Amino acid sequence: MKFHILTLFPEMLEHGLHQSILGKAAAKGKLSFHIVNIRDYTQDKHGKVDDYPYGGGAGMLIQAQPVYDAYQSLLRKPEKKMCITATETAEPVKKLRTIYVTPQGRTFTQDMAREFAREEELVFLCGHYEGIDERVLEEIVTDHVSIGDYVLTGGELPAMVMIDAIARLVPGVLHNGESAETETFHNHLLEYPQYSRPEVWHDKQVPEVLLSGNHKRIETWRLEQSMVRTRERRPDLYLQYQTKQKIIHTLAKQKRKYIHMMEQLARGMAHMVYQKDVNVLLQVEGSRSYAIYAESPAAAGMLMESLGGAGMLQQERFSLVTCQETIRELLQDQYGLKVKNVCYQACYTRKEMLRVSCRNIRRLTESDLPYIVSHYQDRDEAYLQQRIRAGALFGICKDGEEQLSGFIGLHEEGDMGMLYVESKHRRQGLAASLESWLINDQLKRGEIPYCQIEEGNDAVVGLQKKLGLYLCQEPMWKLFFG
Ligand code: SAM
Repeated sequence: MKFHILTLFPEMLEHGLHQSILGKAAAKGKLSFHIVNIRDYTQDKHGKVDDYPYGGGAGMLIQAQPVYDAYQSLLRKPEKKMCITATETAEPVKKLRTIYVTPQGRTFTQDMAREFAREEELVFLCGHYEGIDERVLEEIVTDHVSIGDYVLTGGELPAMVMIDAIARLVPGVLHNGESAETETFHNHLLEYPQYSRPEVWHDKQVPEVLLSGNHKRIETWRLEQSMVRTRERRPDLYLQYQTKQKIIHTLAKQKRKYIHMMEQLARGMAHMVYQKDVNVLLQVEGSRSYAIYAESPAAAGMLMESLGGAGMLQQERFSLVTCQETIRELLQDQYGLKVKNVCYQACYTRKEMLRVSCRNIRRLTESDLPYIVSHYQDRDEAYLQQRIRAGALFGICKDGEEQLSGFIGLHEEGDMGMLYVESKHRRQGLAASLESWLINDQLKRGEIPYCQIEEGNDAVVGLQKKLGLYLCQEPMWKLFFG
C-alpha cells in the first residue's frame, strides 16, 4: 500500500514512519511512504506558502496554490513528468482518495482504519498554522478526518497516528495475521488482560486458566474478561455490544435464513447504520453492500429513511439484501430498487473439520490477478484485486504442480464464493478440496462458513450437500438501483 503525505515538515514523518514494524514492512515492500514537501511547489520566490486570512483574524493560512500543485504532482505519470516543459501541465490521470487531517473531521476509528486499509493508495494532507485555504480543500479532499476533539499545532502527528493504524491492517505487515482480529475494538469489545513471563511477579500470579493449555477454557475466560473490562471502562461500547448480541440472538432463531447478517455482525465486518429494537439495517464495512431485517414493512421504511434519501440508493455498487418477501415488495415499489439476483443460502453449522484431499492450496497475490481475471467474469477486475489485497482469495494447484488449476474466495460480505476449477481438472475433487479447506480455515476462527447459491445452479447445490452444508429453502433477494 502506498501512502503519500503532503506536509510542510517532512522530517517529522521521515523519522517517525521508518521505525519498528512500519519501517520493516516498508523495507519488505509491503508499504511505501512518499513524503512531499508542499514548500517545494510554491511559486513564491522567497519560498513562502502562507498568508493572512481575508476578513482578518489570528494567524496565517496555507495558500491554495502550493497545496494544489503538490497534489497534482502525485497524479502525473512518472514518464510524463520527465518531458514536462515549463509551459505544459500534465493531465491528471485519476483522483486519489485524499484525507485532510483536521479537528473538523469525523473522528478516526478502527472501522475507518479497516476501510482505508482496502485502498491501494492514500493521500494525507497535513495542515499547519490556522489551516488551509478552503478552495483547494474543496477541489482535492475526499475525506475530512480528526483524531479527537482537541486542536494540535499541525497535521503531522494525526497523519502518523492514522497511517500507523491503517498500515498494520495491510496483509503482511504484522507477522501474525490474527493479532489484528482479536484486539481492542474488534467486535465492540476491549481486549482481555494479557500476561507474560514470569508466572509470579510482585506476588501476582498469572491466572491459572492461561497455564491450563485448554484452548476452549482460555477463549471463554478471555471473552468474559473482555466483557467485564468493556462494561467497566467503556460502558458506551458495551451498550453497542449488547445491542448487537440481542440482534444476533433474534436472527439466530432463523439461522439458515439470516446467516449472512448474523455472521457479518459476529465477525465485526458490518455496522448498524440504523437499529430500533431488533429491526436493523447493516452496512458491510468499506462497501456499499447493505442488508435489512425488519419485523414489519413500516419498520423497514423507517430503516430505509436512515439512508438519507435516493442519492444513497443511486450510488455506484449500492446493493441491498433482504430475505423477506414483504420487504422486497416495499423496496421495489417505494424505493425503485430492482431484483438482480435470487439466491439460496447454505451454511456449515457443524464443528468438525472437513477432510481436504488436495492440500496444495495457497493465498493468492497480485501476480495471480491476470489468471483470476481471465477465468472469472462474474466480477470486475477492481473487485477481484481488492479481494486479493484483503487476503481473501486462495488458489489450488494439483499435487506436485505449481500452476494454478482453480481458486475460491470470500466475498466482501463474508460469504464463500468465486469458486472456479479449470474444465480439464474438474471431477478430480479440487472444488471440494478448495471449499473444505476454506471451511476449515473459518472454523479455526470460530466463524460459521456460508455461501449464497444462485437459483438453478444445481452443480453448486450438489457440492454443498456433499460437504454437509444446510440449504435454506427460502430465497434471498439482492436489489440494486436502476
Ligand atoms: N483553525 C483550525 C480549526 O479551528 O479547525 C485549526 C488549525 S490547527 C492549529 C493546524 C492543523 O493541525 C490543522 O489544519 C490540521 O491539519 C491539524 N490538526 C489539529 N488538530 C487536529 C486534530 N484533532 N485532528 C486532525 N488534525 C488536526
